[in-house]
Amino acid sequence: MTERALYDLTIRALFVAAAVVAPALLFLVAPYGRHAERTRGRALPARVGWLVMESPSVLVPLACFAIAPPRTPTPWVLLALWQVHYVHRALVYPFRLRPGAKPMPVAICAGAFLFTTVNGYLNGRWLTPFGDYPTAWLASPRFLVGAALFLVGYAINQQADRILLRLRAPGETGYKIPTGGLYRFVSCPNYLGEIVEWCGWAACTWSLAGLAFALFTVANLAPRALAHHRWYRGKFPDYPTDRRALVPFVL
Ligand code: NDP
Repeated sequence: MTERALYDLTIRALFVAAAVVAPALLFLVAPYGRHAERTRGRALPARVGWLVMESPSVLVPLACFAIAPPRTPTPWVLLALWQVHYVHRALVYPFRLRPGAKPMPVAICAGAFLFTTVNGYLNGRWLTPFGDYPTAWLASPRFLVGAALFLVGYAINQQADRILLRLRAPGETGYKIPTGGLYRFVSCPNYLGEIVEWCGWAACTWSLAGLAFALFTVANLAPRALAHHRWYRGKFPDYPTDRRALVPFVL
């Protein structure tokens, strides 16, 4: 089997995985963070878990570029967008977590490591050499709209994460009702921003790898947003009743 045939098969598998994961996660909440009370088995400190599971997203695309350096600037611009998100997520975010953050179950970390490795490979190899991105792509509506969407999603995700991480004073471990930014409208603007980002990525790369990743992100985060929302409503009797889970005024 050629690498390209294996690549195409893996993309199909990711579409199938997204279709399976979404309904499964509506019934089974991934046991980390606030939903970890029910976890059994070994766990890693949250910082180590995030570092380990997100690092392939930085390293694997870099390896793809080292193996097949692109001939036009466009893949480099797309890689820069990708790395704006993932250098933060893998190398900065873990160190912004409060020491009280819940430990990461090893099974969750291992599953996420596998996903970020495969996803980094699919998107990295598409940028170079499988995709074709001439310099003119940078002036195309697909790129411009997609990149704008990506950056808006990134800003929403960053602001929402910043608000959450400031809720706890040093040494605190409990939960509070987040306020400000898009928390006025939804319980999980961090997930909303993440989904908008990867939809923007799918548009600006116009690729099956990007589309599969965006759908998988929705499949993973939309059920989790619903679970967070239910959890907030159960825990806080004074939780704002007009706040939705993920999409302002809709969901
Ligand atoms: P959460 O919102 O569950 O938690 C983020 C951090 O904030 C945790 O340290 C958590 O503590 C703390 N926190 C959350 N809510 C409160 C609160 N009400 N009061 C006090 N502290 C709180 O997010 P995730 O951990 O699931 O995700 C973190 C980031 O990673 C997000 O930006 C998300 O978009 C991204 N992500 C992306 C995925 C993808 O598929 N692309 C998958 C998963 C995450 P504690 O750990 O104690 O709960």
